[in-house]
Amino acid sequence: MKIYFNGKLVERQEARVSVFDHGLLYGDGVFEGIRSYNCLVFMLKEHIDRLYASAQAIWLKIPISKEDMIKAIISTLKANKLRDAYIRVVVTRGEGDLGLDPRKCSHPTTFIITDKIVLYPRQLYAKGLNIVTVPTRRNIPEAINPQIKSLNYLNNILAKIEAITFNVEEALMLNSEGFVSECTGDNIFMIKDDCLITPPTTAGVLAGITRRVVMEIAPKLKLKIRESLLTRYDLYNANELFLTGTAAEIIPVVTIDSRVINDGKPGAKTLSFMSEFHKLTKIKGVKYAL
Ligand code: PMP
Repeated sequence: MKIYFNGKLVERQEARVSVFDHGLLYGDGVFEGIRSYNCLVFMLKEHIDRLYASAQAIWLKIPISKEDMIKAIISTLKANKLRDAYIRVVVTRGEGDLGLDPRKCSHPTTFIITDKIVLYPRQLYAKGLNIVTVPTRRNIPEAINPQIKSLNYLNNILAKIEAITFNVEEALMLNSEGFVSECTGDNIFMIKDDCLITPPTTAGVLAGITRRVVMEIAPKLKLKIRESLLTRYDLYNANELFLTGTAAEIIPVVTIDSRVINDGKPGAKTLSFMSEFHKLTKIKGVKYAL
């Protein structure tokens, strides 16, 4: 397996970061998770824009241009002969000393891993997920803004641990005010009557790229779009619920906190979103040839 590492394609064993890298010592860095489908990197420009926006927000200058980052991603996919892949792009603050001061880190570390990912077993897409609301709250935007896709995922990992202890696959986090935010690696949507509803990014959620695609599909399914603050009560009384994310794509939710949604079956509109989404994975993005 070839890894892009600071400008070069190297073997996996050679792709090593320093124990002094602040990405490791402090979670000081940013990342993206991207997918390619049949030699098309889905929504690549949007992911690159978000990566650079995350970096800008943490005062990190990515050493290469957006165009070169796109080239680096494509050459890594080609070097690994991957048509369908999960792509992880990571930029850390780089090697520094044991203090926090980012000015001591003279050069960011950049690496790109291209591999496969299976987030949920296939049958869960047909059966739907059970999720629970967990005690851990989403970071407040005034601390680490959840719009920054940083290497600091401990907030989400704590929520995931709670989901695991409840014996379910995914955790729903509320924000500090008790409104619905998002799951540990996915945005959440509900359908009520003729409306598709999701929390606004100001509720403390990542501006998901899949979220954006789903909102583009909604008018085609004759649904109005609303971004509004939601409570657990709203979710319990939804007609349909689903999660969205690059790795998970669109996955139905059939119970939340043991409240059964749509008689415990994935909703018809959710299934339509899933099939429209798969059509878009064939056209929206940047193509490459192996
Ligand atoms: N929220 C969080 C916390 C995430 O980590 C992710 C996926 N990386 C998402 C939402 C979904 O975002 P996207 O659709 O861009 O993958």
